[in-house]
Amino acid sequence: TMNLLQKSEKLAILGEMSAGIAHEIRNPLTSIKGFIQLAISENPQNKYFAIVLSEIERINSIVGELLFLAKPTADVFLVKDIRNIIKDVVTLIHTQLSLHNIQINEVYDWDIPKILCEEQRLKQVFINLLQNAIEAMPKGGYISIKGTFLGEGNISIEIMDQGVGIPEERISTLGEPFYTTKEKGTGLGLMTCYKIIESHNGKLCFQSEVNKGTKVTIIFPAATQDTLLGTAIH
Ligand code: ADP
Ligand code: MG
Repeated sequence: TMNLLQKSEKLAILGEMSAGIAHEIRNPLTSIKGFIQLAISENPQNKYFAIVLSEIERINSIVGELLFLAKPTADVFLVKDIRNIIKDVVTLIHTQLSLHNIQINEVYDWDIPKILCEEQRLKQVFINLLQNAIEAMPKGGYISIKGTFLGEGNISIEIMDQGVGIPEERISTLGEPFYTTKEKGTGLGLMTCYKIIESHNGKLCFQSEVNKGTKVTIIFPAATQDTLLGTAIH
């Protein structure tokens, strides 16, 4: 198993490489997709074309995630209330939740401090984590989100699902590129999460029990008096 530093170096290198590769793949892919769509419209009963199209979509979503990862960082870090960020994400995936018969319960400490964060990136983290929770519960169920003020300048956000769970020996594999157990998975969602959380000086960890559910814990440093002052000026 890799230590954290090796993991982060590997991610940095992968981020740089993926930008170039993803761009090179995207253009021919777009033209292949166009021609397949044309072929489908001319031969609507050909079932192979539909499979080709869905596999193209899969490559497209992998490329999309790689490009997102590698995006040159024009990131803007601002002091924000994490509750609002999570609420926005829950609103965003609302339709998907009801479609899958899933209810979300949110509980936050009233005095949870604000954090210094890049809002768009952080939203992506919660989208990816909630997406995994949804996909882990094919029969529906509850997701519970808990925000806690830990003291010592940290906050934690826990996301708990009642899904299929993750075998213990797999926990250390999470976040490695292309590790997926899903037929249509990319195995890039958690890698993205690790990378973004790391850029927030946070921590991400998993506890899970097979057939019971998974708890994802994210720890963020609270915004300090200095950062609060700094952003007030800028
Ligand atoms: P993907 O969702 O495309 O498979 P991710 O990086 O998001 O890629 O997740 C990698 C793997 O980690 C998943 O395929 C799944 O096996 C496991 N996993 C992540 N989150 C959960 C969860 N909440 N419950 C069960 N398994 C999970
Ligand atoms: Mg995922």
